[in-house]
Amino acid sequence: MIRGSCLCGAVTFWTEATPKGASMCHCTQCRKQSGGIWSSAYVPDDALTITGPVTWYEASPTARRGFCPTCGAFLFWTANDEGTTSFALGAIDGPTGLTLEKHIFTGSKGDYYQIADGLPQKE
Ligand SMILES: [Zn+2]
Ligand SMILES: [Zn+2]
Repeated sequence: MIRGSCLCGAVTFWTEATPKGASMCHCTQCRKQSGGIWSSAYVPDDALTITGPVTWYEASPTARRGFCPTCGAFLFWTANDEGTTSFALGAIDGPTGLTLEKHIFTGSKGDYYQIADGLPQKE
């Protein structure tokens, strides 16, 4: 069981599924919305329960980004046709039990840091 919440606590989420694809995203949209790198993993849509208000922002025609309208925490990302929802690893309460698998969209990462953990990088 993984449980998570936003900074103010208005939004909570939980899943009993085993999350997949733990990754750090360096894309411009995640940079802009989170203020840095966004770490996430995903589960099937129907395996994720979300409570509280979430504002969904369509940053592109193919995906939505969910955040808490009170504290602004960027919590969720979902493509319109994949049937899965990614949630922020940083919002998990307690141990995650997860290990990062990769970095993605490294081609648009900031120039103020280096990726040096040896994990696979996808541009
Ligand atoms: Zn909040
Ligand atoms: Zn991203």
